[in-house]
Amino acid sequence: MQLNKRILIFGAGIAGLSTAYYLRNEGFLPVVYEKRPEAGGRFATLEYEGVYINKGAMMFAPELNRGFTELIAELGVPHELIRLKKFALQVGDKITGLDSWSMFRSGLFSISEYMKWRRLVKFIKGLDFRLESWDPKLQELHSVSLEEFCVRDMGYSRKMLDYIVQPFSSFGYIDPPHIAADHGLFLLAYGDTPIRVPHKGMADVASELVRRMPGVVRAGFRIESAGKNSSGAFDVNIIGPDEKPFKETADNIVFATGQESLGRIMPEINFNMKCTKTRGVIFEARCPQYRKYDVLLFSKFNNPHGVHGGEMKHLPDGRTIAGMFLYRPDADIEAVFGKYKELPKVGWSPAITLIPPASRTRGVETEVPGAYIVGDFYRLPCIESCVYTAKQAVERIKNEI
Ligand SMILES: Cc1cc2nc3c(=O)[nH]c(=O)nc-3n(C[C@H](O)[C@H](O)[C@H](O)COP(=O)(O)OP(=O)(O)OC[C@H]3O[C@@H](n4cnc5c(N)ncnc54)[C@H](O)[C@@H]3O)c2cc1C
Repeated sequence: MQLNKRILIFGAGIAGLSTAYYLRNEGFLPVVYEKRPEAGGRFATLEYEGVYINKGAMMFAPELNRGFTELIAELGVPHELIRLKKFALQVGDKITGLDSWSMFRSGLFSISEYMKWRRLVKFIKGLDFRLESWDPKLQELHSVSLEEFCVRDMGYSRKMLDYIVQPFSSFGYIDPPHIAADHGLFLLAYGDTPIRVPHKGMADVASELVRRMPGVVRAGFRIESAGKNSSGAFDVNIIGPDEKPFKETADNIVFATGQESLGRIMPEINFNMKCTKTRGVIFEARCPQYRKYDVLLFSKFNNPHGVHGGEMKHLPDGRTIAGMFLYRPDADIEAVFGKYKELPKVGWSPAITLIPPASRTRGVETEVPGAYIVGDFYRLPCIESCVYTAKQAVERIKNEI
């Protein structure tokens, strides 16, 4: 292992930051270039009057995100449990908490529908979602869509798909026919496991990583292009905050840019990944009907307003700060929340890498030796995939001859 290797990481989202963190734990001294003025990427949180609302990722489940849970514990970032009864699913004017008892009592489902939901939950409980080992059952399900699986293997009706499966799969901003069943079931698994959120939002995780690696993250620097030179090292063209271009040389490069810039920086690498997108808005409203809930979720079915759902923080004076994602750009937020005052717009943003049925899973290696990719593309995309691929890339760099 050559600890004096020059390693450049492109992008300071959770994937790039955790790669730098694990490299440093191994004794390497990487540098992270981030094009935006601040680190974090889709780990971004707005602080408003003492409350924290996420603009991107919000939650993790210790059972499903073991690597990320370890990282957050190591960093000492405080986090708290959100109970499923604090998650509201609203269909028309009916609203239910997402815990079994609230769902049972909600009147939204017949006993037989409720039992079918429990059967699916039991099936999901028996699956192994760890990224290290691909459960053969999940591997089989990778070839069909979530919708096909729910209808074919679970006997789900249209109503069950519209009321439960779609709102859950839209955690990934994707509908049941377009997502592979293994990834879809992973999203559904969040519906029956303890969920945690950092007290100060996901941005706190990014800030803590930056704080622990002084001088490593260079924000405001955009990677323009990279290529191998005649001595086998990488030449990297960078634009600084003053728009002045300069060049760096590296032994290894790690792409952690999310879907943005992929392929453009180094055309010989064919990433061929697509990302789901979402549009978010953060606003202040008075909506007493939602005060007992922290997260709100709407089905797309029979949804005239087009609000998808999101996070809510309630202030003691009756105001709610809501970070809501929309099914449509012209969503009628007022129809759900009444009069509201808009705070910063989040805008259209990449959400999660799309895993369509029967798609190929790629690893961290690229077509170019010494260049790696990390992020939310591995098997079951989410923050866990970012941390997992970060560790994989570090292992590869360590073991390079
Ligand atoms: C609304 C929303 C909710 C979500 N909720 C959850 C959730 O609750 N749980 C979960 O597990 N996942 C969730 N996700 C997904 C999760 O946020 C992402 O999977 C994860 O944050 C991706 O991290 P990343 O580091 O791969 O990419 P990013 O966070 O996108 O980071 C990429 C970074 O690279 C930078 N960059 C791009 N191009 C260049 C360049 N040319 N030069 C330099 N820098 C560059 C970008 O500015 C960015 O900072 C959510 C996503 C969204 C949008």
